[in-house]
Amino acid sequence: MSPEGSGEPRRGAPVGLGEVFAHVDRHREAFVERLAGWVRQPSVSATGQGMPEAAGHARDLVAAAGLEAAVAETAGWPLVLGRRAGPPGAPTVLVYGHYDVQPPDPLDAWSSPPFEPQVRGGRLYGRGGADNKGQHLAQLLAVESLLARRGELPCTVKVLLDGEEEVGSPNLAAFAAAHRDELAADLVIWSDGPVDPGGGWRLVFGVRGVASFELRAAGANRPLHSGNWGGVAPNPLWTLVHLLASMKDRDGRITVDGFHDDVRPLGAAEAEALRRLPVDVEAVKANLGLAELDAPAGRGFFERLAAWPTLTVNGLHGGYGGKGSQTVLPHRAVAKCDVRLVHAQRAEDVYRKLEAHVRRHAPGVELHRQGSMEPSRTPVDSPFTRPIRAGMAAAQGADPLLVPVLGGSLPLYVFTGVLGLPTYGIPLGNPDQANHAPDENLDLDRFHTGIKTAAAVLDRLGAGGLDADGR
Ligand SMILES: [Zn+2]
Repeated sequence: MSPEGSGEPRRGAPVGLGEVFAHVDRHREAFVERLAGWVRQPSVSATGQGMPEAAGHARDLVAAAGLEAAVAETAGWPLVLGRRAGPPGAPTVLVYGHYDVQPPDPLDAWSSPPFEPQVRGGRLYGRGGADNKGQHLAQLLAVESLLARRGELPCTVKVLLDGEEEVGSPNLAAFAAAHRDELAADLVIWSDGPVDPGGGWRLVFGVRGVASFELRAAGANRPLHSGNWGGVAPNPLWTLVHLLASMKDRDGRITVDGFHDDVRPLGAAEAEALRRLPVDVEAVKANLGLAELDAPAGRGFFERLAAWPTLTVNGLHGGYGGKGSQTVLPHRAVAKCDVRLVHAQRAEDVYRKLEAHVRRHAPGVELHRQGSMEPSRTPVDSPFTRPIRAGMAAAQGADPLLVPVLGGSLPLYVFTGVLGLPTYGIPLGNPDQANHAPDENLDLDRFHTGIKTAAAVLDRLGAGGLDADGR
């Protein structure tokens, strides 16, 4: 007799995913309540609001899911760890998420207070609901649901919740390097960010890195009259304009020596996955008010985001920018820039090449490094891709889109680089989740399907990649 509805795990006969899904359905309201309780706890790493009480709350959620839970101190805000052994021979999955959130400002732009979660129109509104509390909670509730129905997990599961993701995870790499045994796993799964803009679920294999820097040029020791001193004192704004022009040509080619040394072509599986991603380029151009995409022409839309590095001038500052005119000869100028890194590019190496370029073309200009994150890539045709896809399809009803590399940056290099683990992203958020902005929200249907997704992925990984009904 099936204990369906009793909450008692059934032992002996294997419990199918359908019963685990039914458990998730039955607990829908209770799981939303759990999420609301989590969002109600502020956890703003940038200001400290609600930290470190939030670490305790996160530890309690990990424990409630049935995992052994602990808070691990770092030089900054603590990490929260969890683990529970699965059957011998099954893979070990390390789940990564973050319990810190962005500051909620500006408060008056919210329709309801950021730390007083409200459900409206099938969405939960509140800071952190989507980024990232709802997404790692879905993973924890999947563990809890599997345990409720089966009494055991299909894989060994470890959990690592970061308390500093929103401030750049400054202590994560050092922690990982010092706790390799504790974090030892076969693969990493993270859930963060949105699904495809068109609504399709996606499986993400990598991210670009980023290296920010500032170029500072100086002229005279004070601002000068452009008539009395123009032609006498050099203009640092022109110095920067010439330097920047020497770094990237009109055809969009970055002309810093050696810059592309570690940019490798995409593999066949990656190129094929990019071709399958949906995009209406004309609609994107219309939406952005653009006549043309950036140079060079002839690159595919997603190829631009996944396969190529960029050099972006974020801002160019100096002299007078106010109303009317001021005939000033500026004495200081600053260009803020970032590079998006791909493939085997490493921030340190790229910084050195940029510094060499600056020394050669504008020796008086100073380059100041402003923080970086390495790129990360897991092959699309990795051995875990098949079971993860099968799990996603079982819960979501369709094969996910495969995204080889996201244009933005996340600290995934800690896993692929420091720990050497293949790393997979399963974003659960709605495309209009407004993360980092007022009225952040999570579509509760996505949350609900996300719990089932996480359960099904663990199930398929444990089954060694068989199809949903293949065990
Ligand atoms: Zn975020």
